[in-house]
Amino acid sequence: MKHIIILLSTLLLFFSCKPEEKDTLAYTIRMSEYNDKPSLEVTLSFIPSDSSATVLLFQDKGWGQENLHNLVHNLHIVEGAEQIVQKKENDHYVIEHSPDSERIVLSYTLVQDTEGELDTEKSIRPIINGDYFHIYSHNLFMLPKSVIDRTEDDFNVSIQWQEFPQNYTLQNSFGHGPVQSIGPVSESEFHSAVFIGGDFRVYENEIEGNSVVFATRGDWKVFEDSTIVSVLKNTIETQRDFWQDHSQEYFLVTMIPTVQKQGYSLHGTGLTNSFSTSVSNNEFVETDGLVYLFNHELQHNWTGKVIKNANEEEQYWFSEGFTEYYTFKNIAVNSIYKLDVNNFIKNMNGHAKSLFTSPVVAAPNSEINYDNFWSSYDYGKLPYFRGAVFAFYLDMKIREESDGQKSLDDLMLRIKEDALASDMKLDHSYFLAVIKEYLSSDISSFFKTHIIDGVPFDLAAIYSEFGLEFDPATEVFDLGFTLGEDGRSVVEVDERSNAYEAGLRRGDSLINYSYQRDYTIEAEFTVVRNNSKIDLSYYPVKNAEIPQLTFSEKNLRVLNL
Ligand SMILES: [Zn+2]
Repeated sequence: MKHIIILLSTLLLFFSCKPEEKDTLAYTIRMSEYNDKPSLEVTLSFIPSDSSATVLLFQDKGWGQENLHNLVHNLHIVEGAEQIVQKKENDHYVIEHSPDSERIVLSYTLVQDTEGELDTEKSIRPIINGDYFHIYSHNLFMLPKSVIDRTEDDFNVSIQWQEFPQNYTLQNSFGHGPVQSIGPVSESEFHSAVFIGGDFRVYENEIEGNSVVFATRGDWKVFEDSTIVSVLKNTIETQRDFWQDHSQEYFLVTMIPTVQKQGYSLHGTGLTNSFSTSVSNNEFVETDGLVYLFNHELQHNWTGKVIKNANEEEQYWFSEGFTEYYTFKNIAVNSIYKLDVNNFIKNMNGHAKSLFTSPVVAAPNSEINYDNFWSSYDYGKLPYFRGAVFAFYLDMKIREESDGQKSLDDLMLRIKEDALASDMKLDHSYFLAVIKEYLSSDISSFFKTHIIDGVPFDLAAIYSEFGLEFDPATEVFDLGFTLGEDGRSVVEVDERSNAYEAGLRRGDSLINYSYQRDYTIEAEFTVVRNNSKIDLSYYPVKNAEIPQLTFSEKNLRVLNL
């Protein structure tokens, strides 16, 4: 009998000290109200380290947002500590407690801090209203740094969802369920996730035994849920087949409607096991644009996540440009949303136009740096256009040299295998070395000239080399004049432009204008000249010598997608 008792108490002791529990952050989330506003009440329980202070990571600034601490109300200790001090400037809070404290429990309430109609910008901040919540995990979960450090950034999380109504849908980057056990997970994986609940409609599909979930809400004006569900399924399935990678067991895509009066906007964020989007819900939304967005962003699961750039912006010609090319190619090869090779040609022609009308078309790769990329639209788009044309060239070249036996697809798969095998990151010398196995001709001077030095491609020569038919010139957007630094005075007018023909002259002062970057829509201006107002309108278009692939039978045969 004695033996059994000893054994039992040993077992009990063993279970009460399970390392998993020590390394688990236990959250409870329930719906509540704070000052008559819908809110989420979060309780965190964890085992602190034997120091007298624990840092709680919770960004005040992040993802382009500021003052995120404003979301937090009624932060207080439930047990095991003395007080919590806010350190807004350091993106965290500090809990003061005794070194002997065995467990700390604290609680806080999150309240939405934006008002009015939900636009794209506001959709990045937490949404907590009577119908639903949509919140990124870095705005939801305070993380005790000591637990992250103690576990070498490999901790467990348990989440209990309490007292949510029966018909309240709950879903997030880690699945769903009244009690969720997550982990081991790292801080960056856990704090890069989306959590939603409320009147969402959830669609679950199985692809090779893995789950793909789409969650949306609202009343979409332009498309049915089923269209998006089928585009997503088709996209994810074909991309995983292409990359020969069906390793992701669960994947969530969320889509919430935003309000916008003019034009439309699509906003997407790649997250752990998931991708969140917000889309303006109006009649201007084009489903083709959504197909593009999903295809581009989901490609980054490989070009960006599996295959990492050695030096971020320096290899954007690859991680954005090749992603762009494989977005167009994957859509066309698999006729996603019935978009075929004609759509591929249309997109490549569009990128050729955008590249050659870019004011930075000849900028060297070194100028695609952090500052320029994020602050300038032109620099920000340059690696997409330039890289896509380069990928197209390589694809055609490899296919030609190998008599159609090989293509850039084989090279991409090879790079993926290398990345997985050795934690290799893609840099220029690796790329030039590996491509030698797929091309007998030396590509290094072409690479240096057009990618590194930024000399514009000779598109006509490239198309001719592969026997592709093209028109030598095309119409492009052109306002036809230049504004001074004050943003009002016309300092130069191109005498061959439609602006000049419509009567715009140097020295005019702009007081009113309406135009879109679309040359099929008339631009309207009101200018002041010699104290009198003049109204002008014209199509902002000109002819430019930018080769455009034709939609000919021969091209379809040569492209052979
Ligand atoms: Zn991208």
